[in-house]
Amino acid sequence: MVGSVALGGAAPIVVQSMTNTDTADVQATVEQVFELARAGSELVRITVNTLEAARAVPRIHERLLARGCTVPLVGDFHFNGHKLLAQVNECAAALAKYRINPGNVGQGRKRDEQFAQMIETACRYRKPVRIGVNWGSLDPALARAMMDANAHLAAPRDAATVIREALIVSALDSAQRAEQWGLPAEAIVLSAKVSSVQELVTVYRELARRCDYPLHLGLTEAGMGSKAIVASTAALSILLQEGIGDTIRISLTPEPGGDRTREVVVAQEILQTMGLRAFTPLVTACPGCGRTSSSFFQELAQRIQIYLRTQMPLWRTRYPGVETMQVAVMGCVVNGPGESKHAHIGISLPGSGENPVAPVYVDGEKTVTLKGEHIAEEFQALVEQYVHSHYAERDPAREPAEAQSSA
Ligand code: SF4
Repeated sequence: MVGSVALGGAAPIVVQSMTNTDTADVQATVEQVFELARAGSELVRITVNTLEAARAVPRIHERLLARGCTVPLVGDFHFNGHKLLAQVNECAAALAKYRINPGNVGQGRKRDEQFAQMIETACRYRKPVRIGVNWGSLDPALARAMMDANAHLAAPRDAATVIREALIVSALDSAQRAEQWGLPAEAIVLSAKVSSVQELVTVYRELARRCDYPLHLGLTEAGMGSKAIVASTAALSILLQEGIGDTIRISLTPEPGGDRTREVVVAQEILQTMGLRAFTPLVTACPGCGRTSSSFFQELAQRIQIYLRTQMPLWRTRYPGVETMQVAVMGCVVNGPGESKHAHIGISLPGSGENPVAPVYVDGEKTVTLKGEHIAEEFQALVEQYVHSHYAERDPAREPAEAQSSA
């Protein structure tokens, strides 16, 4: 468990994200965590890199709780985490989980001492720990030792294979040491992130074969835009399909001024389109072609998807099950009616040369034909009506006291 979120075993795969604000800036961090959680992030990681940042953590936590946001906060520690956790007890207590990178906890004997110190804090506060190895910060002593040993083999393996093995060994050995220092096995999550799709798949398959710890998946430094989304989706889909992975994060570099919540949306869409979880109703839309006469069809598809996503923070609690609803917005009669019938509610817009009307299908049946200037508004109203009539409305304020207290 991380806070109230179950991890590993049969628990649903958890969506995680990370802030890019200065954690010492309490207001900015609260806002971003709030937005990430609102978008559906179930764990939010924040950097804890300075004394100011560590002191800010309990204040961030309190302000979020005051706004009704209970998302568990994960502290990301490098280099000085042992000091910060020791110096700011309130930070150690407020965080729901610590992320420790064994490559960045110190050199030589200090490495073990400082790592042990952080594990002791985790044990004292009963916090789970993610041991997060990254090939950009792989323990240099371990990598050197393994490269040296490899060089003395009769048939040395290639450097990439040795580095891959070093990542796995670093994660597994660190977990073993954490257990020896008293951290329960069920309080350990492992990750071993690399930025190449094929390497990531190989590393995680091997990790999954060699341990039972829950695994956090993510392609590190995935990059920007469609490249980052495609690479992350390619890597994670293979692993998720094989049953590997308990939490995921999509490491998108935001466009300048871009929305940080995009990484949450992409993570959710990977899980939802694979049929592993449902988060928000998705719009099925055709790509359009020479039969689509204007951009109206694209605009309607986009409008409805944005509308559905915007409603979800409210609908999530009020209309349980609505996240599985499927909506179709199609460009012409070729596939429009067929695809609309497969969806819960669908509209087929007129293609070029077709009668300018838009039949709407509800649960497979044609119910109404829209026409004129206000097709978009009318279809959106029909979608909303469908939600009201098909998913039981739940108003916690109106529920009997007994039901509330047992919730
Ligand atoms: S449904 Fe019609 S508009 Fe859409 S891609 Fe197919 S033929 Fe083109």
